[in-house]
Amino acid sequence: MKGVPTTKGRFYFNRKNKMHYYDSSTIIYLNGRFVKAEDAKTDLYGQSLHYGLAAFEGIRAYKTHNDTRIFKIKDHFERLQRSCELVNIPYPWDNSELIRQTYRLLELNNLKDAYIRPIVYSEPNMTLIAPEKVSIMICAWEWGAYLGDKLLKVCISPFQRPNPKSTFVEAKISGHYVNSILATTDAKQKGYDEALLLDQHENVAEGSGANIFIEKNGKLYTPALGNILAGITRATVIELCHVLDIEVVEKTISVAELKNADSAFFCGTAAEIVGIHTIDDTVYRQRWSDSIGYTIQRAYKNLVLERVNYEVII
Ligand code: PMP
Repeated sequence: MKGVPTTKGRFYFNRKNKMHYYDSSTIIYLNGRFVKAEDAKTDLYGQSLHYGLAAFEGIRAYKTHNDTRIFKIKDHFERLQRSCELVNIPYPWDNSELIRQTYRLLELNNLKDAYIRPIVYSEPNMTLIAPEKVSIMICAWEWGAYLGDKLLKVCISPFQRPNPKSTFVEAKISGHYVNSILATTDAKQKGYDEALLLDQHENVAEGSGANIFIEKNGKLYTPALGNILAGITRATVIELCHVLDIEVVEKTISVAELKNADSAFFCGTAAEIVGIHTIDDTVYRQRWSDSIGYTIQRAYKNLVLERVNYEVII
């Protein structure tokens, strides 16, 4: 793997967001072995690189009072398996073994608060027929505790989410992220923090890497499944609503409903729970600290940090 060397030795990071992905001591998991990230190789003749046929996950590990815990790791590996099955990528692995190896990977890299990225990709195959031979790679990098409560300026993207009749939108497939990159880049170029994408019927779908909830008259609403990725955080928010006795409805949401809402937030493994300040020119007037989203944000933090047993949830 190639990166950008810095003066501090050989660090490999993304210049824009200063994320430090790996250095000369980083270990990754590759097809049953732990190897140095620097020494690992991939071929240039695979469907994953050429056509975007690969399945991946984004998972968070948190340093909790019970040691490092990987939040909902089983759900993530199950979704990885399901993504592969949907698009005919073989998945010859046992998830409990992959979970064990993921914890080992964090130990080997001395990571506690981390982002974990498993990816299943094809071996050399340039045809348009689903691959027979695949690889799995799992890497992780440090992901510091979330700082601040900045609310997002969001625009409605000119890009729609992929049509569910053109792909399996519920699968987390690399190629789908061309759509996410187009939407985010467009939003940033226009001076927004994030994009909100509509579905093929121009109803609210999701962010480029997060699901959305809106609040209206003391209830939460979120787009029903069908045109979106079934987020694990979205499912967690729904569970938290049940625990906290907050009414939550999964339904089709129009742009008018979105803009008439009292407040709104995105949720996702990386974003966690993040409030939205504006959608295009519409400003949510309710104070974030008075919103249900704020309550959910704190409850989510307590849950991932396993504080629920000894701290009041809200
Ligand atoms: N939608 C999209 C398009 C995503 O990429 C993600 C991030 N995986 C989500 C929603 C949120 O999913 P999760 O809560 O499982 O991270």
